[in-house]
Amino acid sequence: MIVISKKTEVHTVLDKKRQSGSAIGFVPTMGALHDGHLSLIREAMRATDELLVSIFVNPTQFNSSADLDKYPRQLENDLLLLKSAAPHAMVFAPEVEEMYPPKEVRKAYDLGELDAVMEGARRPGHFQGVAAIVDKLFQLSGPCKAFFGEKDFQQLAIIRHMAAQYHPNVDVYGVPTRRESDGLAMSSRNMLLTPVFRAEAPVIYQSMLRFARNVRQEGIETCLKEFVASVEKNGLLKVEYAEVARNKDLKPVKEFEDDTRFFTAVFAGDVRLIDNVSLS
Ligand code: AMP
Repeated sequence: MIVISKKTEVHTVLDKKRQSGSAIGFVPTMGALHDGHLSLIREAMRATDELLVSIFVNPTQFNSSADLDKYPRQLENDLLLLKSAAPHAMVFAPEVEEMYPPKEVRKAYDLGELDAVMEGARRPGHFQGVAAIVDKLFQLSGPCKAFFGEKDFQQLAIIRHMAAQYHPNVDVYGVPTRRESDGLAMSSRNMLLTPVFRAEAPVIYQSMLRFARNVRQEGIETCLKEFVASVEKNGLLKVEYAEVARNKDLKPVKEFEDDTRFFTAVFAGDVRLIDNVSLS
């Protein structure tokens, strides 16, 4: 495994690999790696010849400096994990200045209307920040196959849209959400949960499954009320939003239809957890 911190070095190494006919797989992460990240890595290793993993906590996608400061960082641990899971990987772990040179003018990305709903509506500028870093990383990694988690389904949709416009040489793949044995979606933020909130958090997925089971018969409105009541019943968790939207354009729907998903964001104290599940 090699660890690189400079963009020029990534170019040099990948160009050499491509010249020898290798297909490049790319998995961008913000580190604090868990089995969800590893499932993307395993998928990338299956589908390509050479793997690039980036570890970079992207400041432009955070809405507050407090959230950015408390985001878990554990590079040494991550590298140990990668050494055993992907011994031949190239790891790109740059400093902030390498990705955002001082005085650089920020681009504004056309994200369709995909960033107007759900996470985008609650976290202004978040997806512009995601687009900025993914644009920079795709400039380095492409042509390649890039792997993203369905855990962040809206992000995946936005990256597909963005890649189609700005990076046609990057094929974007979605990978299903990995969960803990009690159903909680794996997330780097889970390690910020106190034991009390961690014990309560599985009620989110349990309530999502109940929603998915009942929505055809009982309708969206009733099931949303049931969802909120069930998640909040012990007074610990607070639902920020819960809604049904179309897979294809993320447009919210009020009456049940096929090819839709249930999406939610829930506060466990000051830790914000997001999740989604297919209703098809
Ligand atoms: P992050 O480090 O949180 O920015 O995530 C990096 C990538 O891993 C993103 O494409 C996420 O959607 C994906 N990811 C995070 N958690 C999971 C999970 N539980 N299952 C599958 N993919 C995940």
